[in-house]
Amino acid sequence: MIKIRSLMLRGRNSHLRNATAKSRSVARQSYRAEARVVSNDNDMFSSDRVTFGNMTSLEMMRSMAVLWICSIPGFSDNASKILNAGKICLGRPLFTRLMRYTAYGQFVAGDEIKEIQTTAKCLAQNNVAQMLAVPIEAPDYSNESTTIDPFQDNLRKSLDCVEISRSTKLEGKNCLMQIKLTALVDFDALESFSKVIANAEMCNSDRLREWITTGCHTNDLASIAPSLTGNEAKKLADGVSRILEVVEHAEKRGVCVLIDAEHTWINPAIQELGVTLMRIYNRRTHVVYMTYQAYLKETRELIKSHAHLCRRNNAHFALKLVRGAYVVAETKKHGSHPPYMCEDWEATNRNYHECLEDLLSMDSKYNEIVIATHNETSVRLAVKHLQARPPGFRSNVSFAQLYGMANYMSFTLGNSGYQVYKSVPYGTVEETLPYLGRRVKENCLVLNGIRKEMTMLRKGLVKKIVGP
Ligand SMILES: Cc1cc2nc3c(=O)[nH]c(=O)nc-3n(C[C@H](O)[C@H](O)[C@H](O)COP(=O)(O)OP(=O)(O)OC[C@H]3O[C@@H](n4cnc5c(N)ncnc54)[C@H](O)[C@@H]3O)c2cc1C
Repeated sequence: MIKIRSLMLRGRNSHLRNATAKSRSVARQSYRAEARVVSNDNDMFSSDRVTFGNMTSLEMMRSMAVLWICSIPGFSDNASKILNAGKICLGRPLFTRLMRYTAYGQFVAGDEIKEIQTTAKCLAQNNVAQMLAVPIEAPDYSNESTTIDPFQDNLRKSLDCVEISRSTKLEGKNCLMQIKLTALVDFDALESFSKVIANAEMCNSDRLREWITTGCHTNDLASIAPSLTGNEAKKLADGVSRILEVVEHAEKRGVCVLIDAEHTWINPAIQELGVTLMRIYNRRTHVVYMTYQAYLKETRELIKSHAHLCRRNNAHFALKLVRGAYVVAETKKHGSHPPYMCEDWEATNRNYHECLEDLLSMDSKYNEIVIATHNETSVRLAVKHLQARPPGFRSNVSFAQLYGMANYMSFTLGNSGYQVYKSVPYGTVEETLPYLGRRVKENCLVLNGIRKEMTMLRKGLVKKIVGP
């Protein structure tokens, strides 16, 4: 029995490996073609114009080494296991030290407020602002021995993140932080609530809004989501109360909260909550942002419908546009490439660019857009649009990249006067291991960007050492 199961798993994994390898090679070819089409001498990302800002030669060498290691398929596929094995073999002190000089130093700001503030200052020298990401993944339910309620612990960390974000705010810039709702709300309750929404039961944004504004009582949930069990309703009500606590605290401290998009089987609940929170909290200004994943075919229509809903309710529509990070998880859950997802990288690119063009041609007064990508073609497309619009239009549009990735892009955009954020995780090596594992794994889907970045780093390093 065990043998059959392991064979089945092996078969399924090889399917995933093949899918990833195939998409890597197809993407590589089309990326080269695209890059040829868009590159020209006046290009802000040509090697003689890009800047690595105040990065030292040592930091550039570390970036090259870490990015190179991340791009080794065997490593990226098993990153979490390798990191955990490293911790056991080397022992905690040595492992922590090694990580601080490598992946942790590359992708994480640090674990003390001072380190986080220093990172913010370094970024600010390149006109790039920090967008802190709460150092939490969804709670690990397998660890039953702990007496701490993981959601309460995550709530405390989220409230701390509001304060740390506030303490690193830059003059004239919005103060942004990122959260994952699965850190605050029970995953199964979100999944059940997503089914209620997907089945078009009685729940809609108007009724959800009424439920939230009248105190999120568990009993009242029965009228909008009757199929939830009593236990699920309680977990959902508790979770939404925690989200409200974070958002209300952020609002008071002048911090904006960007809600991450996650897996499709919980996204309906996240999206419905997100757009409803925008309607409640984004009346005067934008406090809540929702994330939209362009690898999903429905996203373009969803953005239009949410933009319309916000406009109709005199609320600011604030969003982060990403391609989507869960290709492997979605494929695994569905058993093959899911039909609701764009067929390949090129189709995702087309969808991303169509969403981007829709957004950049909307009346921007009530829209706040974060273009979160490391893809140079997408950034160039957005820059082209922004250059054609009046300068005031730019104040509602920002770019965002992950800390430790695409620095050449962030610093060049920042130094050219665009609004740029770096999504910056923080926490101890121990706390950020799941994030680092995920980061390395996801990097196998962004290999083209990494290759370009390594070329830029190599050229930048030579220029720094030998001179222009
Ligand atoms: C600031 C910031 C915040 C983010 N927040 C979120 C978030 O909340 N939720 C989230 O899901 N992700 C989030 N991401 C990650 C994001 O979705 C991408 O995974 C990551 O940025 C890589 O995509 P890219 O646009 O940089 O470019 P690229 O390297 O050009 O594209 C890689 C992406 O293409 C898509 N792709 C690759 N192969 C296929 C395929 N076979 N079929 C379909 N699509 C494919 C995938 O989306 C993959 O991530 C965030 C990224 C940033 C920079």
